Amino acid sequence: MTLIDTLNRPLRDLRVSVTDRCNFRCVYCMPKEIFGSDYRFLHRDQILTFEEISRLSKIFVSHGVRKIRLTGGEPLVRKDLPELVSMLASIPSLDLTMTTNGSLLPKFARALKDAGLKRVTVSLDSLDNEIFKAMNDVDFPVEKVIEGMDAAAEVGLGPIKVNMVVKRGVNESSILPMARFFREKGYILRFIEYMDVGHSNGWRMNDVVSAAEIVKMIDAEMPLESADPNYPGEVAGRWRYKDGKGEVGMIASVTQAFCRDCNRARITAEGQLYTCLFAIKGYDFRAMLREGATDDEISQQIARIWGKRDDRYSEVRSENTIALPKVEMSHIGG
Ligand code: SAM
Ligand code: SF4
Ligand code: SF4
Repeated sequence: MTLIDTLNRPLRDLRVSVTDRCNFRCVYCMPKEIFGSDYRFLHRDQILTFEEISRLSKIFVSHGVRKIRLTGGEPLVRKDLPELVSMLASIPSLDLTMTTNGSLLPKFARALKDAGLKRVTVSLDSLDNEIFKAMNDVDFPVEKVIEGMDAAAEVGLGPIKVNMVVKRGVNESSILPMARFFREKGYILRFIEYMDVGHSNGWRMNDVVSAAEIVKMIDAEMPLESADPNYPGEVAGRWRYKDGKGEVGMIASVTQAFCRDCNRARITAEGQLYTCLFAIKGYDFRAMLREGATDDEISQQIARIWGKRDDRYSEVRSENTIALPKVEMSHIGG
């Protein structure tokens, strides 16, 4: 049964954050000053178990969800993650993917593929070690992330997509080298406009490098033409190289909001449902799961929440909305 919200948008895509922890401290996501050694991450019994995630996912699928993306935090720091993948992979007609920083892919790619994961998206913000290490802030080298992507490609978790967040004054100089490198490699590079998720990253509009600027920069060296979306509601705008050698994506969530087609819901590691990346409040499903609610009751609660959804934060972003209370990206997942 397809659910429709107040703006006529179906529920199709579910992002499940499996942990709020991460082995990186990206400056735009989990800055060290806030996520330091005294930061209180969720305790094991506060986060949903694999059985709880799996049960909830099945109910979402019965409501029309066709795609589940595992995220975090860093999903691969969650112990035994391939077990969860295997539980979710048994749900029929579901596209199961993951977004990861790639650091643990050399170790887990094979197990993830065997468990039934379809594809991975790997985040990488620069090919320059000085810039990348300053951005991940844990001294993690570029080569190891590329090793992770290659390991995933080798076991068949492709086509590999690469996410690059662009922050002005930090990594614009990496745009062209990244475009050249991944065009040669045949991985699909997607540029993400730096977003005002959470409050810890001190976001300012001036830090955003717009998708239009990025397209212009690449087009001047490697001519591009726009391409049609692969499916309605696709987040990344597609741009094809005119010489036929692949494509790049632009996730212009700040300068060209795509709320009109947004069919995504998010579950945090502790089982809160958010109907927008910028939502002020979540809905507690962990309590329902642990207090004996039936599948029907959970299903009805999802329907009620989606039925009254009217989120369109990126379309109405302003100086006033930036100050609103928001959830951190590492908590809600990308
Ligand atoms: N740890 C995994 C990773 O980095 O791929 C998954 C979680 S991460 C929160 C998901 C995606 O969100 C990543 O591609 C990351 O670069 C992106 N991201 C995090 N903070 C962001 C921000 N402030 N603006 C735009 N994208 C952001
Ligand atoms: Fe970790 Fe991903 Fe956030 Fe970077 S973007 S700190 S890798 S969760
Ligand atoms: Fe969807 Fe909210 Fe992002 Fe708009 S701002 S695209 S409603 S998650």
